[in-house]
Amino acid sequence: PGSTGWSDNGQPATLGVMGGGQLGRMFVHAAQSMGYFTVVLDPDTSSPAGLVSHQHIQRDYLDTQGLAKLVQHCAAVTTEFENVPAAALATLAATRPTAPNAEAVAIAQDRIQEKAHLARSGVPVAPYAVIENAADLATVADSLLPGILKTARLGYDGKGQLRVSNRAELASAWDALKHVPCVLEQMLPLADECSVIVARGWDGACVHFAPQRNLHRQGILAVTQAYEGNLPPALVDKAVTATKKIADELNYVGVLCVEFFVLAEGSPESAALGGLVVNEMAPRPHNSGHYTLDACDQSQFDLQVRTLAGLPLVQPRHHSAAVMLNLLGDLWVNGCIPPWDTVLALPGVHLHLYGKLQAKPGRKMGHLTVTAATAAEANAVALEAARLLG
Ligand code: ADP
Ligand code: MG
Repeated sequence: PGSTGWSDNGQPATLGVMGGGQLGRMFVHAAQSMGYFTVVLDPDTSSPAGLVSHQHIQRDYLDTQGLAKLVQHCAAVTTEFENVPAAALATLAATRPTAPNAEAVAIAQDRIQEKAHLARSGVPVAPYAVIENAADLATVADSLLPGILKTARLGYDGKGQLRVSNRAELASAWDALKHVPCVLEQMLPLADECSVIVARGWDGACVHFAPQRNLHRQGILAVTQAYEGNLPPALVDKAVTATKKIADELNYVGVLCVEFFVLAEGSPESAALGGLVVNEMAPRPHNSGHYTLDACDQSQFDLQVRTLAGLPLVQPRHHSAAVMLNLLGDLWVNGCIPPWDTVLALPGVHLHLYGKLQAKPGRKMGHLTVTAATAAEANAVALEAARLLG
């Protein structure tokens, strides 16, 4: 799709994005810095991306007129939000290059389809069972308990999942989740969590960022550490290879993030599964890749623009050790503003706020990345920033 590149009759082309959250906002920033016009489709009148885009179509994702307007304005469309209905992407793809494709998004939207795809790709996943009716509950293998029951659809930030230690708890958890289709995963002994972000072009060329190490708090990503030595070296290549395999199998175009569990060394689960299993994937840039804005010569959003526009993909270079801290709404307690003046007085701090008008507990309001020459320095400054933020 060379026609989606630099110009449209001599004018910069317009790139469209489905979804107006912070990921869309950072895509818009990257696209605009390369001279593109942007159009965002999101029903929220004050969406973070809508606030900074040249155009904002305030319609529902399946609204026929909204989709028609998007197509009319843009040369190509991407998505920033995995719950954009796959049907909307399929409609767009009929007339415009659309990346990622509807099928990849549909697979990532549904844990049952996702697990099946991962199995087809030959990458290990946590042992699991599909729970779609009461009979499925009865046939669950004992080895899956204790486990985590997760809704097949619409879970994020640890929502839509319950930990269960026996069959009675499993039955009541399924009741609590209102009998929607679920997967039950065996609870694995985790040593670490990490993720890999790749960008794959229309021609199948693929570039990647090295795995970042992720620390979660209450199911929400809290900290990402991105520097050499953050993970056992043997796992690094394995995780990158698995991610590329998954992207190839999906014939994926765009930015894809795959999350992994690193299993506790010496555990029977680790021996059985080879030390590393895929947790889930996100068909878009990912929170754990925000450090690439400040610590790499191309960010995950730059690569999203390049893949969408059919521009060359060049392996990004990670030039600074980085630690990213998520800034949740909890920091804005009682209308107070976090102490930015003291935090920004620390060396190597990059503050990113998403322009969300209302802070709520657990809501992702922004992030900050600390860059430094060494991992020790980045960690020390990040620790100090976290202490100042309370
Ligand atoms: P979400 O879609 O909300 O991110 P995940 O499936 O990634 O949900 O689960 C959230 C977190 O719960 C994971 O990052 C991990 O810390 C923990 N977790 C999920 N599944 C397992 C598992 N099978 N074994 C151990 N911990 C798990
Ligand atoms: Mg997750």
